[in-house]
Amino acid sequence: MNWTDVPSDKFSAWLDVFRSSQEGINLKAKCPVCGSATLHRYFSSPHTPPADGTLGRCGRWEWCSSCRSFAHYSAAMPVWWHCDITVDEAILTPEPEALEQALIIASHNVAEPDGAVNDLPA
Ligand SMILES: [Zn+2]
Repeated sequence: MNWTDVPSDKFSAWLDVFRSSQEGINLKAKCPVCGSATLHRYFSSPHTPPADGTLGRCGRWEWCSSCRSFAHYSAAMPVWWHCDITVDEAILTPEPEALEQALIIASHNVAEPDGAVNDLPA
């Protein structure tokens, strides 16, 4: 299934959802297009960090893992942005496929049992 642009009649609701959230890569809100709680966002590192101490322009992705609607913009990186997953930014494209794959890998890592670490004697 290919990535598709957010339908124009849903775009304003889509923007509202993302604008009202300062969550990280995973949003709790439901997708305005399909109703699934599988919305994600990502800001890439600025290509050239500005020398003036600001955060600079970066790539901004918003997507839904279920219906594969997505939006991609150039944006200012917000100060609240944080990201728990590792993304190879060299392979990023306007479509969020590489980001989706990074999320899948991260979720597999989280699902691994960590009992071995917890069971170590104190
Ligand atoms: Zn969706």
